[in-house]
Amino acid sequence: MATASPILGIDLGTTNSLVGVVDSGFPILLADADGARLTPSAVHYAADGCVTVGAAAVRQRAIDPTRTVTSVKRLIGRRAGEAEWKPAYDLKALGKSPAEGSADILKHLKAIAESALETEVSRAVITVPAYFNDAQRNETKRAGELAGLTVERIVSEPTAAALAYGLDKLEENKKIAVYDLGGGTFDISILEMRDGVFQVLATAGDTQLGGDDIDRALADWILRASALPSDSAIQHARLIAAAEEAKKKLSAEAEFTVELPFFQDTANLSVRVQRSDLDAIAQPLIERTRLHCRRALLDAGLSAADLDDVILVGGSTRMPLVRQVVQDIFGREPNVSQNPDEAVGLGAVIQAGILSGALRNVVLLDVTPLSLGIETFGGLMNIIIPRNSTIPCRAGEMFTNAVANQQEMLIRVLQGERELAKDNWELGRIAVPFPPGPKGSARVGVQFAIDANGILQVLARDTATNTDTILEIQNSAVDVDDEKVEKMIAESVDFAFEDMNERIWTEAHLKSEELLKAVDEALEQCAGLVPEDEVEKIKVAASEVRNVMQAELHDARALKAANQLLDDATQQLAVLLVERAMEAALERKLS
Ligand code: AMP
Repeated sequence: MATASPILGIDLGTTNSLVGVVDSGFPILLADADGARLTPSAVHYAADGCVTVGAAAVRQRAIDPTRTVTSVKRLIGRRAGEAEWKPAYDLKALGKSPAEGSADILKHLKAIAESALETEVSRAVITVPAYFNDAQRNETKRAGELAGLTVERIVSEPTAAALAYGLDKLEENKKIAVYDLGGGTFDISILEMRDGVFQVLATAGDTQLGGDDIDRALADWILRASALPSDSAIQHARLIAAAEEAKKKLSAEAEFTVELPFFQDTANLSVRVQRSDLDAIAQPLIERTRLHCRRALLDAGLSAADLDDVILVGGSTRMPLVRQVVQDIFGREPNVSQNPDEAVGLGAVIQAGILSGALRNVVLLDVTPLSLGIETFGGLMNIIIPRNSTIPCRAGEMFTNAVANQQEMLIRVLQGERELAKDNWELGRIAVPFPPGPKGSARVGVQFAIDANGILQVLARDTATNTDTILEIQNSAVDVDDEKVEKMIAESVDFAFEDMNERIWTEAHLKSEELLKAVDEALEQCAGLVPEDEVEKIKVAASEVRNVMQAELHDARALKAANQLLDDATQQLAVLLVERAMEAALERKLS
């Protein structure tokens, strides 16, 4: 099927950026060669003209801070002197404009996508903060163009986050707050969704408030608690890094010990931090978001009770205290169903998918995330409903008994993308009894039906007796953990070659069995009628088939070739068989 050229979804963040694309109906974020999806928004411009982007540039910052550009987003679209934020580098001295700095990050993201997708891409959707004005949006667009990308749309970050949270599938009009607390900035946006269109009603925030402030405050506390002196910049950098690590650990644990060996000459720093210590330090900073939230609600003309959902975005919203404060501000539990680092990026990808036509149905849960089928003879997966089918849907197939005198057919309902049944997941099984008969005599119709709620019903009907056997499988047909889906799809790609070989092998093996049986019977029937050397040729070809069948290594191609040779060698025998059958028929007629 020909698809339109892909459109990338890009979250061009202050600290980190993400790139993704809709692949086979799924929004996915792409990883770089190291397997990382988050790319630090950092660019190092070496004196020799070499440009490094991402984690490698962050490493350069320690050695070469004046040539390492970070947080360039804070500078974009601002006139000279307008920005209150002062970086350690001088962009002008490096011969770059903020748009050019951003373009280098975008070029890197484009390259990540191109190598992951193995195709060139030239179109993108890029997200910007809701408060970005026209000049800032245009500069971002220009950055995309400098990177060789046609920017199909600039999307507000909270809108993207709301898209990723799947709120688009709610039919009624909804009002949502997106609370975004990252490393350096805080944004609150109130959105209204009407007929699938998001409108930002109000935004507020603080461009100087984020996780970094908490790190600094905690670093000071740790130093005071250690009673050690600190005077160098290197010590300061070590403390900040240790404080950030402790802060992150304390999101999941109740206490953490910061250890910095040889902090001051031979003295080691060792300080135990309780989560309650961190909370006391962070509380006044996080409290500052309350005012902005109130202000945004006021501007939108709403009260907290008018909201339908509060969405958390940004790495700092992983802190339990932040969640607690948000709950207190809005009087409801925030929605934490998504990865706060990836929500904006995923939303950008979804928007890109809608634009490119790769995502026709934005209601993501309304498609089957993985294929559904049953196991067939030889242990193969037979797909009945392919992945990404929109639900409700219904499909079926007719099956027969593969061996004579089979008493029943066991139907194993499978989910997955692998060629062999054993590599897919079994959702359930049913046994369909039927009267014994020769091979191919039974007729069992199997029908899969998924209703609008994602419930799969498997119906097996013995057409001879018209008896139905029904199996109902709750939500599992549609409700699969995203990670598991991604893993299954990735494995189906990784093992595509082996799986295909195994499928062809199994099919060839079944063919070999049939052929050998037919050849043995024919030789018996035509004994004495076929010349000796012809018989010898057939026996050699048959034994070659048996040899390949028994080989430990499943060489599907060799088996197919051996089958073909046997088939060729029996041409004369086949003609003889037909002649004999005709003679017999003629005799019967004449007598
Ligand atoms: P962002 O700008 O959205 O990438 O957010 C980055 C900020 O999130 C940094 O200040 C991180 O220290 C902070 N962060 C990331 N993970 C956690 C965590 N598990 N607990 C607390 N803060 C975190």
